[in-house]
Amino acid sequence: MIKLYPQKSFSSLAIVLIAFLLQHFYKANPNAHNENPRAVILISIDGLHPDYIDSLNTPHLLELANKGVYPAYMEPVFPSKTFPNHYSLVTGLYPANHGIVNNSMYDADLGLFFRISNREVISDSRWWKGEPLWGTVQKQGRTSATYFWPGSEARIQGIRPTYWMEYDHSLLHETRIDSVMAAITRSPRPALVTTYFSAVDSRGHEFGPDAPETREALREIDEQIGNLISSLRNEGLEDEINIVVVGDHGMAATSSERVMLIDNYIDLEEVYITDLGPLGLINVKDSTRLDSLLTNLNTMPHARWFKRDHLPAKLYYSGSKRIADLVGIADEGWQMASKSRFEGNPDYYSGGNHGYEPWHQSMHTVFIAQGPQFKQGLKSSGFSLVHVYELLCAVLDVEPAENDGNLGEVEHLLQIEPG
Ligand code: AMP
Ligand code: ZN
Ligand code: ZN
Repeated sequence: MIKLYPQKSFSSLAIVLIAFLLQHFYKANPNAHNENPRAVILISIDGLHPDYIDSLNTPHLLELANKGVYPAYMEPVFPSKTFPNHYSLVTGLYPANHGIVNNSMYDADLGLFFRISNREVISDSRWWKGEPLWGTVQKQGRTSATYFWPGSEARIQGIRPTYWMEYDHSLLHETRIDSVMAAITRSPRPALVTTYFSAVDSRGHEFGPDAPETREALREIDEQIGNLISSLRNEGLEDEINIVVVGDHGMAATSSERVMLIDNYIDLEEVYITDLGPLGLINVKDSTRLDSLLTNLNTMPHARWFKRDHLPAKLYYSGSKRIADLVGIADEGWQMASKSRFEGNPDYYSGGNHGYEPWHQSMHTVFIAQGPQFKQGLKSSGFSLVHVYELLCAVLDVEPAENDGNLGEVEHLLQIEPG
């Protein structure tokens, strides 16, 4: 005869088991039992230079800065371009390690070009390495929403943000802010909600970093950030949500009078050009010609050319096959171009550009954060963008994936320094 456990002892066994499982679950998800778990609204303003912040155009950003933490600047990673830096922000990896080594690149193993204007390509998971912050929080039981972020359209390690949208350059700024508010008031509260604004970068390219048009674009975005702060206040969320505003790089003034034409140094029949501007990425058709082409390119003034894996170590730009055979870096404010491109549209080369080494003051960008996990009224020295992922993981109380950042460089910004 089968012996049945008495009903009473079975239920107490079940209770013990459930209690054990819950304890285990909460241990792995320190936020899960909390009704008001930690959250970050991450706002990117593309091409935002620290000099653009002033009381006239950015009163709301200054309000956040004065209440929260306001480092003097944030240094981008090399190359100071949009996709490499946005993906470093959310992975803590240098571009050579996260795979997005430039906005335009070629992967010989895939036999494919990456271009940020090609939706099919940017949503192909094979390009994106590492673990983005939304993957980190979702693996640890939280949710996320991205209205927009480079990489969010690809299934990275099998994961997309819980809520995400296809990139739409023309989506109204206020719709982006409305989407952020709708997401942050969801239940359960997402750990991470991102949004992104391109207008300051676009105007910076067209009119230059010092132009009133560029400042006006920022004033409009600042107004939207003001609306977001008011909405959070109206919802009683002001003291619960961390707002983190970042840029990805700055902007250097350029001129069509500071352009080197590459045709004057090498025969273009011998190479494939993947990118030319502040940064040059060139693959060579016949590898026996590499040294000779490099020698010729290095007669170009206002630029330095390197073989792949021979760039200065402080750029952390080596170890990826997606970095081209030859990499050129123009002096700040100078650009490289092919004769045909330049002559087709010389005006394109006047205004502003970025992509230069991160240490130029013009390439610096902004980090401003305010909220319960950040110190109040702290002005501090600058730091590298590669540490932001570690910082945000500490803010959200999630375990970071392996990365190149170091919490020690930024933990002074936190209200309670992690032990
Ligand atoms: P850059 O060439 O580095 O100045 O890149 C800036 C451009 O990147 C902006 O004008 C945006 O239109 C574009 N961009 C930013 N985020 C995305 C995205 N998630 N998907 C596609 N394009 C984007
Ligand atoms: Zn950018
Ligand atoms: Zn740009």
